[in-house]
Amino acid sequence: MTTQLSLPEPPPKAAEFGRDSLIVCENLVRIYQTGSIEVQALQGLDLTVESGEMVAVVGASGSGKSTLLSILAGIDAPTAGRARVADADLLGMSRTDRVRYRRSTVGFVRQQTASNLVPYLTARQVVDLPMAAAGTPARKRGARSGELLEALGVADCADRRPTQMSGGQQQRVAIAVALANQPRVLLADEPTGELDTTTSAQVFEALRHVNREFGVTVVVVTHDAEVSGQVERTVAIRDGRTSSEVLRRTATAEDGGTHVIAEEYAVMDRAGRVQIPREYRETLELTRRVRLALESDHVTIRPDA
Ligand code: ADP
Ligand code: MG
Repeated sequence: MTTQLSLPEPPPKAAEFGRDSLIVCENLVRIYQTGSIEVQALQGLDLTVESGEMVAVVGASGSGKSTLLSILAGIDAPTAGRARVADADLLGMSRTDRVRYRRSTVGFVRQQTASNLVPYLTARQVVDLPMAAAGTPARKRGARSGELLEALGVADCADRRPTQMSGGQQQRVAIAVALANQPRVLLADEPTGELDTTTSAQVFEALRHVNREFGVTVVVVTHDAEVSGQVERTVAIRDGRTSSEVLRRTATAEDGGTHVIAEEYAVMDRAGRVQIPREYRETLELTRRVRLALESDHVTIRPDA
């Protein structure tokens, strides 16, 4: 007989940051060292993404977007902080786990259309490749390739090689390749960067389609405002940190018409730091010291005058 049943419950632990999220980055740091020069590509980035979400990541060139995606893709390893995708801890993973992670938990689409495909392989063959590597039986592979190329609107490209496809078709085949092993997360780093506006819109629509139809969580880096305007959440990165988020929802007006409401939020990090946009700082001449006051339901920041 045990007497432990009558012991009081232990006090609840503080909820772990992003415990229920599919993707969690906490205080993520990536430092690149080239010779004596150190570049802090990520400087304490926090991010959570829920299962089934489609999130756009925006930010100036050099802000750390590709670094973030390579870390989430398991291609690059962070210097410090925490990064978890599903049950994979991206800092403490063994080599074997990393291989399995890259093969089956995430799919990755790169900006350079050419680098996503193999010059001498047809679309059908290149979609088959990751499944063969994972040991999927041939019969299943054939069915899945067909289904994926169909879902991405490139069934007619099945027997074509990259040079026989347009840039947009190549990127849609690349999405099919990335989804071959049914990953939970699809990462795309400026997948439309080399495409014209119309083709970009098609590729982006393909991403939205697989997000809705397959429930795959999508994180897409883009600098196209038109593209980021179509997702429910856009995360902005500035200097290696998440600085703001825009959330969009569809509202129904009184006349029955629907319209999208976009609201911008500043992101507060785990230590309570918030970045004040440059325009605000310049308008009110906020410099190093500001006056902070707690009101009943908000906080004010005033210049130190
Ligand atoms: P983005 O994708 O937002 O343009 P990156 O993540 O590519 O930004 O780069 C962030 C910063 O890290 C930049 O200053 C870039 O020069 C630097 N950087 C990226 N990759 C490397 C690398 N392999 N070696 C050294 N510096 C790098
Ligand atoms: Mg980049």
